[in-house]
Amino acid sequence: MSAGDSSPAGVLKVAVDCPLRALLDYLPPPGMLATDLPAGARVRVPMGTRSAVGVIVAHAAHSQLESGRLRPVTELLDATPLFDAALLELLQWTASYYHHPPGEVCAAALPAALREGQSATAQEQGLQLTAAGSAALAAGEPQRAPRQRELLALLAAHETGLSAAQLEETWPGWRAAARALGERGWVELVLREAQPAAAGHAGGALSAAPTPVLELSEPQARAVAAIDACAGRYGTFLLQGATGSGKTEVYLRLVMRALERGAGALVLVPEIGLTPQLLERFRSRLGVPIAVLHSGLSDRERLAAWRAARAGVARVVIGTRSAVFAPLQTLGLIVVDEEHDSSYKQQEGGCRYSARDLAVRRAQRAGVPVVLGSATPALESLHNANLGRYQQLPLPRRADQAAPPRIALIDLRAHAVHAGLAGPVTQAIERHLASDGQVLVYLNRRGYAPTLLCTSCGWIAPCTECDARLTVHRGAAQLRCHICGAAQPLPTRCGRCGFAVRPVGQGTERIAETLAAMFPHAPLVRLDRDTVHGADDVEAVMNALLDGSARILVGTQMVTKGHHFPGVSLVAVINADQGLFSADFRAAERLAQTIVQVAGRAGRGTRAGEVLIQTEYPEHPLLQSLIHSGYEGFAADALAEREAARWPPFSRLALLRASGCTATAALDFLRHARDCAGPAPAARLLGPVPASMARRAGRYHAQLLVEHAGRGELHHFLDHWLPAIEQLPDARRVRWALDVDPLDIQ
Ligand SMILES: [Zn+2]
Ligand SMILES: [Zn+2]
Repeated sequence: MSAGDSSPAGVLKVAVDCPLRALLDYLPPPGMLATDLPAGARVRVPMGTRSAVGVIVAHAAHSQLESGRLRPVTELLDATPLFDAALLELLQWTASYYHHPPGEVCAAALPAALREGQSATAQEQGLQLTAAGSAALAAGEPQRAPRQRELLALLAAHETGLSAAQLEETWPGWRAAARALGERGWVELVLREAQPAAAGHAGGALSAAPTPVLELSEPQARAVAAIDACAGRYGTFLLQGATGSGKTEVYLRLVMRALERGAGALVLVPEIGLTPQLLERFRSRLGVPIAVLHSGLSDRERLAAWRAARAGVARVVIGTRSAVFAPLQTLGLIVVDEEHDSSYKQQEGGCRYSARDLAVRRAQRAGVPVVLGSATPALESLHNANLGRYQQLPLPRRADQAAPPRIALIDLRAHAVHAGLAGPVTQAIERHLASDGQVLVYLNRRGYAPTLLCTSCGWIAPCTECDARLTVHRGAAQLRCHICGAAQPLPTRCGRCGFAVRPVGQGTERIAETLAAMFPHAPLVRLDRDTVHGADDVEAVMNALLDGSARILVGTQMVTKGHHFPGVSLVAVINADQGLFSADFRAAERLAQTIVQVAGRAGRGTRAGEVLIQTEYPEHPLLQSLIHSGYEGFAADALAEREAARWPPFSRLALLRASGCTATAALDFLRHARDCAGPAPAARLLGPVPASMARRAGRYHAQLLVEHAGRGELHHFLDHWLPAIEQLPDARRVRWALDVDPLDIQ
């Protein structure tokens, strides 16, 4: 086969929004050279019988295809590139690292409207004077229509014409006059580029009153100086600061320095960490428009924020996971707050990228510093710091803050337990309430009870679509599946024998009921996904605690996400044992992070806090190292264990997930995938096995884990394996996806 024909006009390599794992070749439009169309701009292209939107990634002299089979692009959609060279390179790297179709990666980085081909710049209607109009005005026309004449004169005074919006405001009823003038060819309506507004979500904070500037502690000042000294070149900094050590103040100072240099900053926060308080703090301190990008925005809001960032109207972008692809005019700094948070990793659907890892990559390519902040860094990040790749900057509690909380384990086997609460915990709650403290009760299980049990035959209410028990929701009088969302009325009788049923175990709803009965004078609030549906609900809960109208907070994982509860003096962890004996090697890390993050909510303000952890396994080594040597001690032990077991970061993983309509379909497909892997002596293929919750929403899930000692080898293996998997006959009969660096391997 020949290397293909060369085209005199050159060839465009286009990432088209479709599930193909390759760039597609197109010719430039007739009469143009490929190089006339800039890389990073969108084009509309023919795809079979339909048309699609793609991004030009590169130019080439030749194509592997015969020139007769190449088709020209239909339309160039952007005169200037949407992605600059560094961002385009990041997108290509993302597609190759996560082995995902490049067109889908590029599309995911764009607001929906741009994916569909709409203009990247905001358009507005404008009214302009024509040459004939100028002449008419000079000749004193139109003599008998003073309003029309007035409009002509107004337009003549504005060289670039006036926008419809401006006219609407100053000249109500202008359209009738404009129509009459238009008919005579004296004015014309044009569609033109509008400057993105620095309003709404894109900023609008210029009038906010400045908040008092805190003086930096010595460690804060040292961190700012170290990172600031890196301005203009790449470096990754691991800012390890306990809760209340002032990480946000460090971020703020660094963003200000970047702005002073004329550069912009990208700040990533976890999905749930983007609170109105945080935004307000950034807005009032920075005094510049900020573009905010998160999953709760409407398509229009997202487009407006994206345009504001790209146009340089907003030089600071704050956002969740997908904001890592935000266009910034001049990037000077990247911050990843709570870098250990699992919401940075796309877990389902699409390209399963890690925004934290991509942030480091982006900083590297852009030659700017990146700050990873956390009280409980991911073990991967600590490992990189140990190897000297990341510079560790410890940020101890500020001197004007309370001493770290006293942490104690409460042995559930050694004490009387009433409704899920051990005696010492109940007594401690009473003591703290009596001395004006507030109490945080943490339980990572929402609903009333995780199980509905028949007291006669032992029947347990199951989900008919999943291998899951149904959770009792008493207030809503429902049984709900937390896996697939199915709901049904709460039965009073056993579904099998008709005898009485009773809820077994504890959920936040039930613990709250118990505490309300035990402490009737202490108002209580709950923070979980059943009671909180948006930022406003979170704010209401926080305000109730801040103004003291609530004394007890019962909550799930949500309480650990950067919310500040300065009045909380006691934290009770109801059940630490979920996660101690999991098949997932990351479960221990997640448990340790949760305990430290929850404990960090205690004793802010001036008094030292108390943390009580209920467990049936107080002698467990993980809990022991956490209690006696803190998160650092735990992390050192956990990293040694990972090294011995060859788990990441001492190896690299990829997980091939599949689901089918029958229990065997997914497993058979994975078996065939395993068989076509070919000889790869250094790879460990583990499985296939059914997922720990095999049946979910009526589909059967299974997985095959691939482990390699090094990143390069793993990717070399995947490069050869994936095309073979795509050729398998059953690859079209099941749903399957590859997850590189999976977070959750159960
Ligand atoms: Zn029964
Ligand atoms: Zn279900």
